[in-house]
Amino acid sequence: MKIDSAVTLNNGVHIPQLGLGVYMADEGAETEYAVRAALDVGYRHIDTAKAYKNEASVGKAIRESNIPREKIFVTTKLWNPALRAGNEEEEFYGSLRSLGLDYIDLYLIHWPVREGYVRAWSVMEKLYGKGLIRSIGLSNFNPHHLDTLEQTATVTPAVNQIELHPLLTQDEVCAYFRSKNIAIEAWSPLGRGALLANPTIVRIAGEIGRTPAQVLLRWHLQRGHIVIPKSVRRERITENAALFDFALNDRQMNEISALNRNERFGPDPDNFNF
Ligand code: NAD
Repeated sequence: MKIDSAVTLNNGVHIPQLGLGVYMADEGAETEYAVRAALDVGYRHIDTAKAYKNEASVGKAIRESNIPREKIFVTTKLWNPALRAGNEEEEFYGSLRSLGLDYIDLYLIHWPVREGYVRAWSVMEKLYGKGLIRSIGLSNFNPHHLDTLEQTATVTPAVNQIELHPLLTQDEVCAYFRSKNIAIEAWSPLGRGALLANPTIVRIAGEIGRTPAQVLLRWHLQRGHIVIPKSVRRERITENAALFDFALNDRQMNEISALNRNERFGPDPDNFNF
Protein backbone atom coordinates (compact mmCIF):
# COMPACT_ATOMS: atom_id res chain seq x y z
CA MET A 1 0.00 0.00 0.00
CA LYS A 2 1.11 3.54 -0.66
CA ILE A 3 -0.22 7.06 -0.32
CA ASP A 4 -2.43 6.96 -3.41
CA SER A 5 -3.52 3.31 -3.06
CA ALA A 6 -7.18 3.07 -3.95
CA VAL A 7 -10.28 1.21 -2.93
CA THR A 8 -12.54 0.11 -5.80
CA LEU A 9 -16.12 1.32 -5.39
CA ASN A 10 -19.14 -0.73 -6.47
CA ASN A 11 -19.22 1.01 -9.86
CA GLY A 12 -15.54 0.35 -10.60
CA VAL A 13 -14.35 3.87 -9.71
CA HIS A 14 -11.11 3.99 -7.69
CA ILE A 15 -10.98 6.21 -4.59
CA PRO A 16 -7.63 6.76 -2.84
CA GLN A 17 -8.05 5.29 0.64
CA LEU A 18 -6.38 8.33 2.24
CA GLY A 19 -7.67 11.85 1.62
CA LEU A 20 -7.37 15.30 3.14
CA GLY A 21 -10.43 16.69 4.94
CA VAL A 22 -10.91 20.46 4.95
CA TYR A 23 -13.81 20.99 7.37
CA MET A 24 -13.25 24.25 9.29
CA ALA A 25 -10.39 25.31 7.01
CA ASP A 26 -10.95 28.93 6.03
CA GLU A 27 -11.70 29.85 2.43
CA GLY A 28 -8.64 31.55 0.90
CA ALA A 29 -5.03 31.17 1.97
CA GLU A 30 -5.59 28.53 4.66
CA THR A 31 -7.44 26.01 2.49
CA GLU A 32 -5.30 26.69 -0.56
CA TYR A 33 -2.15 26.11 1.49
CA ALA A 34 -3.47 22.86 3.00
CA VAL A 35 -4.55 21.42 -0.35
CA ARG A 36 -1.28 22.45 -2.00
CA ALA A 37 0.70 20.86 0.85
CA ALA A 38 -1.31 17.65 0.62
CA LEU A 39 -0.85 17.39 -3.15
CA ASP A 40 2.90 18.04 -2.73
CA VAL A 41 3.15 15.22 -0.20
CA GLY A 42 1.29 12.89 -2.57
CA TYR A 43 -2.35 12.93 -1.41
CA ARG A 44 -4.66 12.53 -4.40
CA HIS A 45 -8.03 12.83 -2.63
CA ILE A 46 -9.63 15.95 -1.13
CA ASP A 47 -12.89 15.97 0.86
CA THR A 48 -14.84 19.22 0.95
CA ALA A 49 -18.52 20.23 1.11
CA LYS A 50 -20.77 23.13 0.17
CA ALA A 51 -21.24 23.68 3.92
CA TYR A 52 -17.49 24.15 4.49
CA LYS A 53 -17.54 27.30 2.32
CA ASN A 54 -14.13 26.51 0.87
CA GLU A 55 -14.89 24.74 -2.40
CA ALA A 56 -13.45 27.65 -4.42
CA SER A 57 -10.11 27.40 -2.61
CA VAL A 58 -9.98 23.63 -3.03
CA GLY A 59 -10.60 24.04 -6.77
CA LYS A 60 -8.04 26.82 -7.12
CA ALA A 61 -5.30 24.80 -5.40
CA ILE A 62 -6.09 21.78 -7.57
CA ARG A 63 -5.99 23.77 -10.80
CA GLU A 64 -2.77 25.55 -9.82
CA SER A 65 -1.07 22.26 -8.91
CA ASN A 66 -0.79 21.34 -12.60
CA ILE A 67 -1.50 17.75 -11.65
CA PRO A 68 -3.81 16.27 -14.32
CA ARG A 69 -7.41 16.55 -13.15
CA GLU A 70 -8.05 12.83 -13.56
CA LYS A 71 -5.28 12.04 -11.06
CA ILE A 72 -7.11 13.82 -8.22
CA PHE A 73 -10.26 12.56 -6.52
CA VAL A 74 -12.60 15.32 -5.32
CA THR A 75 -15.56 14.81 -3.01
CA THR A 76 -18.16 17.43 -2.19
CA LYS A 77 -21.55 17.25 -0.53
CA LEU A 78 -25.10 18.47 -0.99
CA TRP A 79 -25.99 20.66 1.98
CA ASN A 80 -29.19 20.24 4.02
CA PRO A 81 -31.16 23.36 3.02
CA ALA A 82 -31.21 22.19 -0.61
CA LEU A 83 -32.99 19.01 0.47
CA ARG A 84 -35.66 21.09 2.19
CA ALA A 85 -36.00 23.59 -0.66
CA GLY A 86 -35.90 20.96 -3.42
CA ASN A 87 -33.22 22.83 -5.39
CA GLU A 88 -30.62 20.07 -5.38
CA GLU A 89 -29.74 20.41 -9.05
CA GLU A 90 -29.04 24.13 -8.75
CA GLU A 91 -26.91 23.43 -5.68
CA PHE A 92 -24.90 20.82 -7.52
CA TYR A 93 -24.12 23.20 -10.38
CA GLY A 94 -23.21 25.84 -7.77
CA SER A 95 -20.63 23.48 -6.25
CA LEU A 96 -19.26 22.61 -9.67
CA ARG A 97 -18.87 26.35 -10.45
CA SER A 98 -17.28 27.11 -7.08
CA LEU A 99 -14.80 24.29 -7.54
CA GLY A 100 -14.19 25.38 -11.13
CA LEU A 101 -14.21 21.76 -12.25
CA ASP A 102 -16.01 19.96 -15.09
CA TYR A 103 -17.04 17.00 -12.94
CA ILE A 104 -16.99 15.77 -9.36
CA ASP A 105 -15.61 12.37 -8.42
CA LEU A 106 -17.94 11.73 -5.48
CA TYR A 107 -21.05 13.65 -4.52
CA LEU A 108 -22.68 12.87 -1.18
CA ILE A 109 -25.97 13.66 0.51
CA HIS A 110 -24.41 15.35 3.55
CA TRP A 111 -27.14 14.42 6.08
CA PRO A 112 -30.31 12.33 5.77
CA VAL A 113 -32.77 15.22 5.99
CA ARG A 114 -35.95 13.24 6.49
CA GLU A 115 -38.24 15.13 4.15
CA GLY A 116 -35.75 15.36 1.30
CA TYR A 117 -33.24 12.57 0.95
CA VAL A 118 -35.30 10.26 -1.26
CA ARG A 119 -35.97 12.99 -3.82
CA ALA A 120 -32.40 14.30 -3.55
CA TRP A 121 -31.11 10.85 -4.44
CA SER A 122 -33.18 10.76 -7.63
CA VAL A 123 -31.70 14.12 -8.66
CA MET A 124 -28.21 12.82 -7.97
CA GLU A 125 -28.93 9.72 -10.04
CA LYS A 126 -29.88 11.97 -12.94
CA LEU A 127 -26.65 14.02 -12.66
CA TYR A 128 -24.68 10.78 -12.38
CA GLY A 129 -26.38 9.56 -15.54
CA LYS A 130 -25.25 12.71 -17.34
CA GLY A 131 -21.63 11.95 -16.43
CA LEU A 132 -21.18 15.03 -14.25
CA ILE A 133 -20.41 12.91 -11.19
CA ARG A 134 -18.30 9.73 -11.26
CA SER A 135 -19.93 8.25 -8.17
CA ILE A 136 -22.73 9.19 -5.80
CA GLY A 137 -23.04 8.33 -2.16
CA LEU A 138 -24.33 9.04 1.30
CA SER A 139 -23.11 10.57 4.51
CA ASN A 140 -24.45 10.05 8.01
CA PHE A 141 -26.94 7.41 6.90
CA ASN A 142 -28.10 4.70 9.28
CA PRO A 143 -29.38 1.33 8.00
CA HIS A 144 -33.04 2.41 8.18
CA HIS A 145 -32.32 5.45 5.98
CA LEU A 146 -30.79 3.14 3.41
CA ASP A 147 -33.78 0.79 3.61
CA THR A 148 -36.06 3.72 2.75
CA LEU A 149 -33.82 4.89 -0.07
CA GLU A 150 -33.63 1.42 -1.58
CA GLN A 151 -37.37 1.38 -2.20
CA THR A 152 -36.96 3.84 -5.07
CA ALA A 153 -33.24 3.99 -5.86
CA THR A 154 -31.96 2.77 -9.19
CA VAL A 155 -28.26 3.36 -8.38
CA THR A 156 -26.64 1.73 -5.33
CA PRO A 157 -24.76 4.35 -3.29
CA ALA A 158 -20.99 3.99 -3.62
CA VAL A 159 -20.08 5.03 -0.06
CA ASN A 160 -21.45 6.02 3.30
CA GLN A 161 -19.27 8.62 5.05
CA ILE A 162 -19.90 8.42 8.80
CA GLU A 163 -18.36 9.46 12.09
CA LEU A 164 -15.97 6.62 12.88
CA HIS A 165 -13.05 6.26 15.28
CA PRO A 166 -12.06 3.96 18.17
CA LEU A 167 -14.64 5.45 20.56
CA LEU A 168 -17.37 4.94 17.92
CA THR A 169 -16.61 1.85 15.88
CA GLN A 170 -20.16 1.51 14.47
CA ASP A 171 -19.65 -2.21 13.83
CA GLU A 172 -23.28 -2.93 12.93
CA VAL A 173 -23.66 0.07 10.64
CA CYS A 174 -20.42 -0.81 8.85
CA ALA A 175 -21.43 -4.46 8.44
CA TYR A 176 -24.86 -3.51 7.09
CA PHE A 177 -23.55 -1.09 4.46
CA ARG A 178 -20.74 -3.45 3.48
CA SER A 179 -23.28 -6.25 3.01
CA LYS A 180 -24.78 -3.97 0.33
CA ASN A 181 -21.37 -3.41 -1.27
CA ILE A 182 -21.23 0.20 -0.02
CA ALA A 183 -17.77 1.38 1.10
CA ILE A 184 -17.26 2.95 4.50
CA GLU A 185 -15.56 6.30 4.83
CA ALA A 186 -14.53 7.58 8.28
CA TRP A 187 -15.02 11.21 9.26
CA SER A 188 -13.36 12.62 12.38
CA PRO A 189 -10.95 9.68 12.16
CA LEU A 190 -8.87 11.23 14.96
CA GLY A 191 -11.95 11.99 17.04
CA ARG A 192 -11.46 15.69 16.18
CA GLY A 193 -7.99 15.34 17.67
CA ALA A 194 -9.31 14.26 21.07
CA LEU A 195 -8.11 10.67 20.66
CA LEU A 196 -4.49 11.69 20.21
CA ALA A 197 -4.01 11.75 23.99
CA ASN A 198 -5.84 8.48 24.67
CA PRO A 199 -3.52 6.38 26.91
CA THR A 200 -3.94 3.19 24.86
CA ILE A 201 -3.16 5.03 21.63
CA VAL A 202 -0.19 6.80 23.21
CA ARG A 203 1.17 3.52 24.61
CA ILE A 204 0.89 1.70 21.27
CA ALA A 205 2.51 4.66 19.52
CA GLY A 206 5.41 4.33 21.98
CA GLU A 207 5.69 0.57 21.36
CA ILE A 208 6.22 1.01 17.64
CA GLY A 209 7.91 4.41 17.52
CA ARG A 210 5.07 6.13 15.67
CA THR A 211 2.83 9.09 16.54
CA PRO A 212 -0.69 8.72 17.97
CA ALA A 213 -2.19 10.15 14.76
CA GLN A 214 -0.36 7.51 12.71
CA VAL A 215 -1.57 4.71 14.99
CA LEU A 216 -5.18 5.89 14.68
CA LEU A 217 -5.03 6.30 10.92
CA ARG A 218 -3.30 2.95 10.44
CA TRP A 219 -6.06 1.29 12.50
CA HIS A 220 -8.60 2.78 10.07
CA LEU A 221 -6.68 1.64 7.00
CA GLN A 222 -6.34 -1.91 8.33
CA ARG A 223 -10.09 -1.99 9.02
CA GLY A 224 -10.65 -1.05 5.39
CA HIS A 225 -12.01 2.45 6.01
CA ILE A 226 -11.45 5.25 3.56
CA VAL A 227 -10.03 7.95 5.81
CA ILE A 228 -9.92 11.75 5.53
CA PRO A 229 -7.97 13.35 8.43
CA LYS A 230 -8.04 17.12 8.57
CA SER A 231 -5.09 19.40 9.10
CA VAL A 232 -3.99 22.72 7.65
CA ARG A 233 -0.37 22.30 8.81
CA ARG A 234 2.18 20.92 6.43
CA GLU A 235 4.02 18.90 9.07
CA ARG A 236 0.83 17.20 10.25
CA ILE A 237 -0.40 16.61 6.71
CA THR A 238 2.95 14.89 6.07
CA GLU A 239 2.79 12.92 9.34
CA ASN A 240 -0.76 11.76 8.59
CA ALA A 241 0.35 10.27 5.27
CA ALA A 242 3.36 8.33 6.62
CA LEU A 243 1.25 5.23 7.16
CA PHE A 244 2.53 2.77 4.63
CA ASP A 245 5.80 1.45 6.07
CA PHE A 246 4.47 -0.15 9.25
CA ALA A 247 1.52 -2.22 10.46
CA LEU A 248 -0.34 -2.80 13.70
CA ASN A 249 -0.42 -6.39 14.89
CA ASP A 250 -3.63 -8.20 15.84
CA ARG A 251 -3.21 -7.49 19.55
CA GLN A 252 -2.77 -3.75 18.88
CA MET A 253 -5.73 -3.68 16.47
CA ASN A 254 -7.93 -5.44 19.02
CA GLU A 255 -6.89 -3.20 21.90
CA ILE A 256 -7.78 -0.12 19.86
CA SER A 257 -11.11 -1.56 18.70
CA ALA A 258 -11.94 -2.40 22.34
CA LEU A 259 -11.92 1.33 23.17
CA ASN A 260 -15.40 1.61 21.62
CA ARG A 261 -17.95 3.35 23.85
CA ASN A 262 -20.46 4.39 21.16
CA GLU A 263 -19.40 7.95 21.90
CA ARG A 264 -19.96 10.67 19.31
CA PHE A 265 -18.16 13.98 18.92
CA GLY A 266 -20.59 15.10 16.23
CA PRO A 267 -24.39 15.09 15.79
CA ASP A 268 -26.56 11.98 15.81
CA PRO A 269 -27.99 11.19 12.34
CA ASP A 270 -31.30 10.20 13.93
CA ASN A 271 -31.61 13.42 15.87
CA PHE A 272 -30.21 16.55 14.28
CA ASN A 273 -31.84 19.90 13.70
CA PHE A 274 -29.79 21.75 11.07
P1 NAD B 1 -10.26 14.82 12.55
O1 NAD B 1 -10.56 13.60 13.34
O2 NAD B 1 -9.63 14.68 11.22
O3 NAD B 1 -9.37 15.74 13.50
C1 NAD B 1 -8.92 16.99 13.08
C2 NAD B 1 -8.20 17.67 14.23
O4 NAD B 1 -7.04 16.95 14.59
C3 NAD B 1 -7.76 19.07 13.86
O5 NAD B 1 -7.96 19.91 14.97
C4 NAD B 1 -6.28 18.93 13.60
O6 NAD B 1 -5.59 20.08 13.91
C5 NAD B 1 -5.89 17.78 14.49
N1 NAD B 1 -4.81 16.99 13.88
C6 NAD B 1 -4.81 16.45 12.64
N2 NAD B 1 -3.66 15.77 12.44
C7 NAD B 1 -2.93 15.88 13.58
C8 NAD B 1 -1.68 15.41 13.95
N3 NAD B 1 -0.94 14.64 13.13
N4 NAD B 1 -1.21 15.72 15.19
C9 NAD B 1 -1.96 16.47 16.03
N5 NAD B 1 -3.17 16.97 15.73
C10 NAD B 1 -3.67 16.67 14.50
O7 NAD B 1 -11.61 15.68 12.49
P2 NAD B 1 -12.58 16.30 11.41
O8 NAD B 1 -11.98 17.47 10.73
O9 NAD B 1 -13.84 16.52 12.12
O10 NAD B 1 -12.82 15.15 10.32
C11 NAD B 1 -12.00 14.99 9.17
C12 NAD B 1 -12.75 15.34 7.90
O11 NAD B 1 -13.94 14.57 7.80
C13 NAD B 1 -13.27 16.79 7.84
O12 NAD B 1 -12.25 17.72 7.59
C14 NAD B 1 -14.30 16.67 6.77
O13 NAD B 1 -13.69 16.65 5.50
C15 NAD B 1 -14.93 15.32 7.09
N6 NAD B 1 -16.14 15.44 7.93
C16 NAD B 1 -17.33 15.06 7.39
C17 NAD B 1 -18.50 15.17 8.13
C18 NAD B 1 -19.79 14.72 7.53
O14 NAD B 1 -20.84 15.01 8.11
N7 NAD B 1 -19.77 14.06 6.41
C19 NAD B 1 -18.47 15.67 9.43
C20 NAD B 1 -17.24 16.05 9.97
C21 NAD B 1 -16.09 15.91 9.21
